Amino acid sequence: MSSPQVYLVGAGPGDPELLTLKAVKYLQCADIVFYDYLVDERVLEYASKKAELVSLGIPYTGHKKKQTEINQLIIDAARSGKIVVRLKGGDPHLFGRLNEETEALRQAGIVYETAAGVTSASGAAQVAGFSLTDRVNASAVAFITGHLSYKHDPALPVLDYGRFAVFPGTLVFYMGVSTAGIWSRALLHGGMPEDTPVIFVQNATLPSERVVYSVLGRAAETVETQKLESPCIVIVQPQVE
Ligand code: SAH
Repeated sequence: MSSPQVYLVGAGPGDPELLTLKAVKYLQCADIVFYDYLVDERVLEYASKKAELVSLGIPYTGHKKKQTEINQLIIDAARSGKIVVRLKGGDPHLFGRLNEETEALRQAGIVYETAAGVTSASGAAQVAGFSLTDRVNASAVAFITGHLSYKHDPALPVLDYGRFAVFPGTLVFYMGVSTAGIWSRALLHGGMPEDTPVIFVQNATLPSERVVYSVLGRAAETVETQKLESPCIVIVQPQVE
């Protein structure tokens, strides 16, 4: 097998000290780095001085590149002989559209490697100062997307948030801050108590990080009053009877 031309690398949640040694190694041999809006600038300082740094834009601003465009940029760069690093926030294997990119690379016959990163849920737990699992209260954790963009695509299933009301463990919502009204209502409807603790961790591991405590019955209101914004991890902690 020839050596990889593209490395799809996790940048962790923000704090550069949470980068993996592998991420640093690949960044230092990169000719070009394509990075997501979630990647903190301080992480980019670990890239080789010769590396070209290319932002892939910010979602919801009209400046974000489409997935097909991103795939093509990576493929073109690899075909021109460059060592490409595709840097993704957190862990690329979680809510990172990794399969779309690896599939395109496979079809283009480009050799790639992926490198895990610290996911923002772990970063958020570090900031909040508690474990997502607990020997008594939480033997399971669900990583859930709060982003319902695919609800408009009839080919894809719609996530029924109400079913997580009986999940026996911690719920962690990614991309869930703007949809707090939707998932919290569904969980309440599914029977989860109003006073279930909900913890919002915004900008986890960044200098601007903040933790906001609420309860399920007031989750959407808390987003408004506390002016919570993305990126934010939301942790819902069902209480054991
Ligand atoms: N692959 C990433 C997730 C990308 S989806 C990972 O493993 O973390 C984007 C979502 O990740 C954001 O909407 C937010 O919910 C979460 N996120 C990413 N970085 C974050 C951070 N520093 N603080 C809080 N949430 C973050």
